Amino acid sequence: MSSTVSTAGEAGARSAFTAAGSPPVLRVEHLEVTYYTDLGRAKALDDVTFSLEAGQKLGMVGESGSGKSTMALAMMRMIKPPGRIEAGKVTVGTTELMGLSEEQMRKARLSEIAYIPQGAMNSLNPVIRIGAQMVDAIRSHLPNEPRRAIEERCTHALRSVDLDPGVFRMYAHELSGGMKQRVCIAIGILLQPKVIIADEPTSALDVVTQRQVMETIDRVQDEINAAVILIGHDMGLMAQFVDRVAVMYAGRLVEVSTVREMFTEPKHPYAQALISSLPNLENKGVFQGIPGLAPSLLRLPSGCAFHPRCGKMMDMCRTARPDTRMLSSGRTITCHLYNDEA
Ligand code: SF4
Repeated sequence: MSSTVSTAGEAGARSAFTAAGSPPVLRVEHLEVTYYTDLGRAKALDDVTFSLEAGQKLGMVGESGSGKSTMALAMMRMIKPPGRIEAGKVTVGTTELMGLSEEQMRKARLSEIAYIPQGAMNSLNPVIRIGAQMVDAIRSHLPNEPRRAIEERCTHALRSVDLDPGVFRMYAHELSGGMKQRVCIAIGILLQPKVIIADEPTSALDVVTQRQVMETIDRVQDEINAAVILIGHDMGLMAQFVDRVAVMYAGRLVEVSTVREMFTEPKHPYAQALISSLPNLENKGVFQGIPGLAPSLLRLPSGCAFHPRCGKMMDMCRTARPDTRMLSSGRTITCHLYNDEA
């Protein structure tokens, strides 16, 4: 049974993000990832389904270990043993990634779907000029492209992220943290992918630089009309920059809604707890945490995985796994409280 829009079925899965009616550029269907460790089997991604249109921005939030980064890696087919993609499809445009050969998938990365990993700016090679690293990325996809065309592509990408083309000749140590992060975004858009996944793109940056980086992502998204998935913890930044928010808990998407719905009327008890833990003028900075700890994926609670921490738990929550239901166009929820509303 599907975890997200299971009761609405496949057609519902496709319409989950397509209120405007345009076809999604990204479709993730029933994606499942398991890690086989010495301590047991950990289901890190449990039947995840969602879709995204060109030009949309989805914020993916949840506590550490909820499966956000695993989802990004699975979409890129970059899960390493002992992890394994057990099931699911990821379709970008008309290309279904799980069915591609390794070589086809290598080409699809960067040209169809780009991933800017957490801490990407620290992975820039310190002894190779930025330009050479950008040229390498293009050459691995377009080996016959003339040098001049490649350099023009790099210059354009650097300008798109508001960097001087002179950065092409610089080394990573000559750049600030924000500039390095923008170089990583420039590399991500070199081949104009349809989907960009940015994993914690603003971590380790000061607040002013965070804002600049988010504005840069906004601008490049407009330029190439990509769908963007932003993974992060900072709900404040999400509120300002994304169109939709997806909340993950223990490997499942528990609520997906517009950013306005999420911040004004969250439905899932975990989403409600996340929102009420944010500081605001009324609570005068008194923090309200979420009771308990996120569960170990090796020993997930039965029924609803959130039930030991949920203030609205019912008897059935201990034993019955909630299905995901569509409440309204584009809004899905995984909680027994809404069984009748769906
Ligand atoms: Fe709480 Fe039950 Fe809903 Fe889970 S299914 S979030 S335990 S009310």
